[in-house]
Amino acid sequence: MRLLLFDIDGTLIRSQGAGRETLAYALEQVFGTVGPLADYHMSGKTDPRIVLDLMTAVGFAPDEITTRLPQVYELMAARAREIFPHRDMHPCPGVPEMLATLHHHEGVVLGLLTGNAHLTAPMKLSAAGIDPVQFKVGVYGSDALDRNLLPAIGIERANQLTGHEFSGYNTVIIGDTPADILCARAGKVTAVAVASGWHSAATLAKYQPDHLFENLADTQTVIETLLAK
Ligand SMILES: [Mg+2]
Repeated sequence: MRLLLFDIDGTLIRSQGAGRETLAYALEQVFGTVGPLADYHMSGKTDPRIVLDLMTAVGFAPDEITTRLPQVYELMAARAREIFPHRDMHPCPGVPEMLATLHHHEGVVLGLLTGNAHLTAPMKLSAAGIDPVQFKVGVYGSDALDRNLLPAIGIERANQLTGHEFSGYNTVIIGDTPADILCARAGKVTAVAVASGWHSAATLAKYQPDHLFENLADTQTVIETLLAK
């Protein structure tokens, strides 16, 4: 059996700024400011990490920010419900074909490992035309501030759900940022990097992923790589 944990933004889909827009709305509602959002690099970071960085920068205490996180997630989801249907969100190249092929593999458990909060993650996929139900396991930004803690949570969750014994040995993380590669290393799982997001293949190569793709368009090679022993 193989556990495949996919990142969402830049890996499965592109949201064309719609995710950032939901965050801006929620921060404005809950804290009355978006902080230094305009200059902030969100890629690879978990939602709680982003909120903490932005709001401590304008003087809020970490405890206070943490207490308000559930409210931020709720408002992001509420805003997403309103705006996602009107935004140009779409899957990254090759993703629909890859998922359709993986669907037929009995030895594969599909999962998500994303910095998105649990409420908005499936909404982003749906808005880009990807059925979130096919991902049996999910580990989200709302599960831990530090992305590097997410692989262990995802593997534990997959084991409880499926009764299989997943470990670093038979788990693969697929993501588009250096943070995805580092998080795979932290979880001792295979790292597959794809340059369909905000980082070039040359940048990602510096972090030495086990496999590196420009995009996921070559379905056969991608599948062979994800399922390689
Ligand atoms: Mg990403």
